[in-house]
Amino acid sequence: MKERLCRCGRPMVQEKRTITREIGNRKIVIANVPVLYCRHCQEILYSARTVKKMDELIRRFPNKTLLTYPNLLDFNSDLRSRLSKLDPYNILVTAPEEPVKRYEIVFLANSLQSKLRSA
Ligand SMILES: [Zn+2]
Repeated sequence: MKERLCRCGRPMVQEKRTITREIGNRKIVIANVPVLYCRHCQEILYSARTVKKMDELIRRFPNKTLLTYPNLLDFNSDLRSRLSKLDPYNILVTAPEEPVKRYEIVFLANSLQSKLRSA
């Protein structure tokens, strides 16, 4: 995983945090949000995908002030490492805003097929 540096120059870590967003004059608390966090200056960064998902969540439950970020694609590390052997280009775990190249899909399909054949 590429390390991301904070504007203060220290490495940021991936964490799940409870964050508060203010929409108009409402405060909405969202738990379990995956963020990049700087332990030095408390800077928090969200990916575009995470922001989109939070907005969806808020729209879907307009009356709730306490939400939990859904982590359906939150693979555990064992599954993730097995997956990364089958899927070296990380198609299955790549953020959807990043375009997937055709040869990557072909490679994944071939890799899954040969895995099934040998199983
Ligand atoms: Zn920082």
